[in-house]
Amino acid sequence: MNVLVINCGSSSLKYQLINSESEQVLAKGLCERIGIDGRLVYQLAGNDKEITETPMPTHKEAIQLVLDALVNEKTGAVKDLKEIDAVGHRVVHGGEKFASSVVLTEDVLAQIEECNDLAPLHNPANLIGIRACKELMPNVPMVGVFDTAFHQTMPSTAYLYGLPYEYYEKYKVRRYGFHGTSHSFVSKRAAEYLNLDLNNSKIIVAHLGNGASISAVKDGKCVDTSMGLTPLEGLVMGTRCGDIDPAIMEFIAKKENLDIEGVMNVLNKKSGVEGMSGVSSDFRDLQAAYEEGNERAIAAVEVFAYRVAKYIGSYVAAMNGVDAIAFTAGIGENVYFVRRIIMKYLGYLGIEVDDEANVATRGIEGIISTADSKVPVAVIPTNEELAICRETVALI
Ligand code: ADP
Repeated sequence: MNVLVINCGSSSLKYQLINSESEQVLAKGLCERIGIDGRLVYQLAGNDKEITETPMPTHKEAIQLVLDALVNEKTGAVKDLKEIDAVGHRVVHGGEKFASSVVLTEDVLAQIEECNDLAPLHNPANLIGIRACKELMPNVPMVGVFDTAFHQTMPSTAYLYGLPYEYYEKYKVRRYGFHGTSHSFVSKRAAEYLNLDLNNSKIIVAHLGNGASISAVKDGKCVDTSMGLTPLEGLVMGTRCGDIDPAIMEFIAKKENLDIEGVMNVLNKKSGVEGMSGVSSDFRDLQAAYEEGNERAIAAVEVFAYRVAKYIGSYVAAMNGVDAIAFTAGIGENVYFVRRIIMKYLGYLGIEVDDEANVATRGIEGIISTADSKVPVAVIPTNEELAICRETVALI
């Protein structure tokens, strides 16, 4: 079965066509600057990227261009659109309505729309992509896979805020968590890779990318995660501040003469390791600055790693133990010096870094703790598109 996986943002759209039996990517790419001018990137497996500047006034034209590219006589991945058997859509926020993936009926779309307030930047864009696909491929089954669904197993002790309870009742203000598709995929794969019984295991997954979150997965179910109502909570990220004293917002608003949007913009886009270091949000640049002795870059990296280590400690407490720790996403998979700083805090768990393995493990699966480390630490590359493909096949 061939599954088209779509991740639709407000002005961009990423896609992959995956064969579900071989789990091979047949073609992939993205549409950028939708509604502005338009740029299609298309790459047939084993070939170079093709880039075409072409108008895309709306998501519908963008998806039509993707479909045209996929069936193109010379460089298409399939001969006919009939060879696309299903579409799997990433949907950011499923609120409390969706604890698992779901076939996208009109009724379901209406329920997703009801979650728009919780993710005003993402959900409307996801819905536009879904509706455009439905128009262009009316007979192809479509599935929605939610970033929040995996975390719906969290107990209320983990998801309630210390706020007036009526805000939860009236507005569903609570912790939801994100990157759920990745936390689910990586925890399952970590159990497999480390020969653990997923249904009788305690795994901590550190998804460290530009957006970063960490989760505690007990017996295959999420019991806590670091992101909250929005992705701003938790770890220090590329440009997001993560946990701060909320009173800082009022303080900064007064000092810098900012309104609430202005403050939120600072917390989401101007903070994190970029705001701290003044260098970059990218750990390649940060590593160079760190090694040159740039004090702010050193502080940013150290704070980033310390926060991860503190969360790991709190999740060991939440699960009353831990059987394995898995690093994933851009930084977790590639940046050995940050993994080493984090792991140095974990000696009390009997964890020891295998320095050679840690340095050698980049973007591949591998164990980076020593053989006699009490808790194994592994790098497990995430693959959200493949996870969406598998969920889609399972549902249709
Ligand atoms: P997101 O999906 O949240 O945009 P990613 O998981 O792609 O993030 O991670 C992006 C970050 O990972 C980059 O900002 C960079 O800091 C880091 N990163 C990715 N690849 C590498 C690499 N090969 N070496 C060092 N850092 C990397």
